Amino acid sequence: MRVIHSVRNLHSWRRKQELLHGPIGFVPTMGALHDGHLSLIHRARKRCRTVVVSVFVNPLQFGEAEDLGRYPRNFPADRRLCREAGVDLLFAPSLEEFYPSNFQTTVTVNRLTQRWEGESRPTHFQGVTTVVTKLFCLVRPHRAFFGQKDYQQFLVVKQLIHDLNWDLRLIRCPTVREFDGLAVSSRNRYLSADERVRAGLLSKALRQGSDAIRTGVRNVRTVQARMDEILDSDPDVHVEYLAICDSKNLEPLTKVRGTVVILGAVRVGNIRLIDNLLVRCPRSQG
Ligand code: AMP
Repeated sequence: MRVIHSVRNLHSWRRKQELLHGPIGFVPTMGALHDGHLSLIHRARKRCRTVVVSVFVNPLQFGEAEDLGRYPRNFPADRRLCREAGVDLLFAPSLEEFYPSNFQTTVTVNRLTQRWEGESRPTHFQGVTTVVTKLFCLVRPHRAFFGQKDYQQFLVVKQLIHDLNWDLRLIRCPTVREFDGLAVSSRNRYLSADERVRAGLLSKALRQGSDAIRTGVRNVRTVQARMDEILDSDPDVHVEYLAICDSKNLEPLTKVRGTVVILGAVRVGNIRLIDNLLVRCPRSQG
């Protein structure tokens, strides 16, 4: 596996790679790699001749009061995990290399970024779409692998690819979960033992909602009430949003129909957790 830290070397690697080998699969990450990231890498490894992973903690996607300073970083472990997973190239630019001091361009996707995560974190998606655009321009992958864990991000990147006419396939990979259903996340390591137990309630509530829909409940308020019951059972779980939405445009629904996504964000102590489940309504009951 090669490790590259500079844009120049990346360009020359990309040119050679295109001539010599077929499709490039790309997995962008912020490092502190865990089983969720590795599942994306394994999927890319299966489907693409060449696999590129980027590790870059992108300051643009953190709000001022957020946890950029204490975001976990462990490059030696990331490098080892990438090597073991058969990654061909690890691109890990420094902050100065990626955003030189005169950097002044941002990329924005409009409607899809307004609600949910966008409401809680107003500058977040512009940071994501700017870093993803730069990474796509640099790596020029044929396929990009993103996790369903960040479902709104997945849709925003899909829109970005569509709007900018990139010849690139976006592949949604299932959320990897802990034994109790909690979605694996870099921030889980900061949960105390008590908080860790509470954190499990978010996925439990989502499952409850999904089960209600699968058994025929179509009224969103009824589904919502069943989920609220679980989250309200612990006053130390603070719900930011919990919504049943159209899976394509994320508009909230009053009646469940087609494929819906249940989106949730909660705070447990200082840690913010997000999760979601896609649920397809059986036609006979719709
Ligand atoms: P991050 O390093 O948090 O920016 O995440 C990089 C990629 O890994 C994104 O596409 C995430 O959606 C994906 N990811 C993070 N956690 C998980 C998980 N538990 N399961 C699947 N994909 C994940």
